[in-house]
Amino acid sequence: MSDKKIPTKIYLTEDEMPRYWYNVRADMKEKHPPFLHPATLKPCTPEDLYPVFCKELVEQEFDQTNRFIEIPEGIREFYKMYRPSPLVRAYCLEEALGTPAEIYYKFEGNNTSGSHKLNSAVAQVYYAKKEGITSLTTETGAGQWGTALSMACAFYKMKLTVYMVKVSSQQKPYRKAVMETYGATVIPSPSDTTQIGRKILAENPTTGGSLGCAISEAIETAVTTDKCRYVLGSVLDHVILHQSIIGQECKIALDKYGITPDVIIGCAGGGSNLGGLIAPFMGDKLNGKSDARFIAVEPASCPSLTRGKYAYDFGDTGKMTPLLKMYTLGNGFMPSPNHAGGLRYHGMSPIISKLYDDGLIEARSYEQTSVFDAATLFAKCEGILPAPESSHAIKGAIDEALECKKTGEKKVILFGLTGTGYFDLAAYMAFNNKTMTDYIPTDADLERGFATLPKID
Ligand SMILES: *Cc1c(COP(=O)(O)O)cnc(C)c1O
Repeated sequence: MSDKKIPTKIYLTEDEMPRYWYNVRADMKEKHPPFLHPATLKPCTPEDLYPVFCKELVEQEFDQTNRFIEIPEGIREFYKMYRPSPLVRAYCLEEALGTPAEIYYKFEGNNTSGSHKLNSAVAQVYYAKKEGITSLTTETGAGQWGTALSMACAFYKMKLTVYMVKVSSQQKPYRKAVMETYGATVIPSPSDTTQIGRKILAENPTTGGSLGCAISEAIETAVTTDKCRYVLGSVLDHVILHQSIIGQECKIALDKYGITPDVIIGCAGGGSNLGGLIAPFMGDKLNGKSDARFIAVEPASCPSLTRGKYAYDFGDTGKMTPLLKMYTLGNGFMPSPNHAGGLRYHGMSPIISKLYDDGLIEARSYEQTSVFDAATLFAKCEGILPAPESSHAIKGAIDEALECKKTGEKKVILFGLTGTGYFDLAAYMAFNNKTMTDYIPTDADLERGFATLPKID
């Protein structure tokens, strides 16, 4: 608790913006198990990854020892257009809940792409440009990652091709329009521009596509095009490294007022915002300087941490990536189509998975209607229309605050508000007119996903 009056928004100046990303692996006594090459099942080497990812990012991916990695000036320049992001004291939400807890949220939706994904997009495009790469490929499902990357590519003058899951490109034409406005080429996937796309179309001409298929097309294009690389918006260690800017800023802002969070909460899809938000606080915990709790919140319909297995699995449905040891539902797991709340990825960041397996992070899951209830309450109190993904963290924070109301504890709760929900209004409409339903996979549904795990002894 603090004796200074805490403003509703704690802003940092440009000068106070962190100059370093924090690499939490440096403070983890045990690192997560290495990626395995899918053909040899031997640990991947940096050379294995150079054809796919640009060099500096591969080096960051393998760097488990450097605690602080300097943010290049060319990246800070872009960050300054939308960072430091505000840390907000949710006075109105606290009052509505009648809780003695202090609730803070870090708002990452304050840029056109509407989410935290820009923090890593900028870094990845910057390094590719520096290396002489002339074009990038990626996939996008809901569209936030593709939009963030389009913005970064426009700024650094890099060509970009986005393979967008065909059904999403039909359902979210506005997302496609934003990406095209920033100069990206958006190709509905599967497409006839790649071998794998043509093969899938020949087998199933009317398919709406999948993220796994879009990843396969993006990787194929990257490895068969001169000076072209592939980029990924979550899951990998270098993405979590870039996202540590979120946690670093939180810590500086809280330190200014002598506030120490007791509970830190983030939504978890691939784990990048959660990993970035908790990173420096987890560092303190690993070094015995804090006893904060960390909570990952996921949808009940895609429960990688709470019901998944800690196993080696492919990162994609096309089985093209290295094998990652992670909490997973199996690469063949498909969340129910009526799940509108995002966070649909079958696996989880290897860093988050390891910390969870070591008992350093807790996890819980919520059904989507309860998440939209929380989103609606939050929007009314705090004025921001939250992304469905972010609303999982809101729901987690509300439940913690209500627990404090029962016990009378004045805990300090910090959560990550990863983005805004303007492109998710179809989901809000379904919630408002009560056609939104909840779906929890049965054990038999999960078994079908686990059956797609690669057999490795
Ligand atoms: C992509 C996304 C997420 C989930 O991704 P993580 O890698 O788990 O952070 C959460 N919130 C928003 C707004 C997103 O766009």
